[in-house]
Amino acid sequence: MSGIDVITGDITVVDTDVIVNAANSSLLGGGGVDGAIHRAGGPAILRECRLLRETTLPSGLETGAAVATTAGDLPARWVIHTVGPVHSARDDRSATLRECYIRSLRLASSLGARSIAFPLISGGAYGWPLDDAVDQQVRAVKDANSTVESVVLVAFSEKIADLTRRALR
Ligand code: ADP
Repeated sequence: MSGIDVITGDITVVDTDVIVNAANSSLLGGGGVDGAIHRAGGPAILRECRLLRETTLPSGLETGAAVATTAGDLPARWVIHTVGPVHSARDDRSATLRECYIRSLRLASSLGARSIAFPLISGGAYGWPLDDAVDQQVRAVKDANSTVESVVLVAFSEKIADLTRRALR
């Protein structure tokens, strides 16, 4: 069972073995945390993403799946890219959102990572209500029962940090 910590701030400066990117299925960059990771990590990450598209992932990464690349110039060793679902009021996609966390943890474990940092997947451009995005995150990380020793939940605002600390209690 992992230890779970909450911090507020920018995930690109966190020195866990893995940082997780809330990517889009193209793997070719985007806004939000994705843009920040590629900016701070330099061109090596995009190079490896392009290579994945040319080889094993010609149609991109499916929602809920996870794939690892180098972390380039970041303090982390690997970036794990995962694609959260776009929030829908009609269609309950929360199991897919939890899969992002579960499959990222499984992949981190297979890489031998001992620590991992997550942003709030789908909590930005993909429109998930923050309180539920946080609840899904906390539930998934707890249920995953991972061997990764340390999980850091990186909140990008004090509001998200408060929601996360509350959900963990
Ligand atoms: P998605 O498309 O999955 O919604 P976003 O990147 O738009 O992904 O947003 C996901 C969450 O990441 C949001 O809570 C957003 O505020 C947060 N975020 C954006 N930039 C950073 C960053 N540099 N470090 C940590 N979290 C970030």
